[in-house]
Amino acid sequence: MTADAAIGACRLCPRRCGAFRPARGSGDGFCGLPALPGVCRAEKHFWEEPPISGTNGSGTIFFSGCVLRCEYCQNGAISRKSCGTVVDENGLIELIKKLESQGVHNVNLVSPTPYYPIIRRALERYKPAVPVVCNTGGYERAETLKSMEGLIDVYLPDYKYSQSETAKKYSEAADYPQAAAEAITEMFRQVGAPVYDENGIMRKGLLVRHLVLPGNVENSLGVLDWIDDHLPKSVPVSLMAQYFPTGHEIHPELSRRITPEEYDQVVNYMLLLGRDNGFCQEPEAADSRYVPDWNMMKEKSE
Ligand code: SF4
Repeated sequence: MTADAAIGACRLCPRRCGAFRPARGSGDGFCGLPALPGVCRAEKHFWEEPPISGTNGSGTIFFSGCVLRCEYCQNGAISRKSCGTVVDENGLIELIKKLESQGVHNVNLVSPTPYYPIIRRALERYKPAVPVVCNTGGYERAETLKSMEGLIDVYLPDYKYSQSETAKKYSEAADYPQAAAEAITEMFRQVGAPVYDENGIMRKGLLVRHLVLPGNVENSLGVLDWIDDHLPKSVPVSLMAQYFPTGHEIHPELSRRITPEEYDQVVNYMLLLGRDNGFCQEPEAADSRYVPDWNMMKEKSE
């Protein structure tokens, strides 16, 4: 482990805290995270979209912590704190090689935002033969993403909110719509429209996800409007129906699953826009069984 992994004045994400983040322990910024990531799970994962999971699985590395604070977070067990096994760039390279040796279709970095400097150093030293997927909540700085150009092959961002007030209410991020729009534009500039291999696995490109929230159909339609105005139809959209209340919700409208009618409204609007190459989920996806077991790597709070 290296003391020089510390970040002096962190402005990696749109919050631009300017905070000191020591290599280990707690940082002073909004996220409270240190510079070295905790890894909560590094295993094959079969529940991503078909071009990501394929038949062999996606090699997911789930990082702890998050720069958003979504009250309904579906991965709250690892996103609200620094936890998992702390790794430096050597440790990350080992994990990437281990997943690669298991025959995964890609290496899938989940919630990498607070850790881009260490991830960049690892990928500059070892770039796997399989694509590297950047799987993020979409709350990114375009400038930070530029530092990852050439190292990420597939961007898999959420676009959660088209409405600033909704982003502020649920995630303490009023600037989310603008920040995510700029970030996704930069992602598309870097990797372009999807390129698939002979088995339909994405080798390069952009796939945008959106989780439909209960009582928020208008927000979802606004997200689809932005996507359709700014991205070619070859960029698939994944509309997720898997929302389930976790018990941390403050706003009462979030205390239930989405209804089939709400989901149908959003799916039908996507089809009306002529975006028919995306992904939908069956209602049974709304189940906590789809939350992975976070104890795959020995949990060690820092
Ligand atoms: S990564 Fe954390 S410390 Fe850095 S700007 Fe974002 S919230 Fe602040």
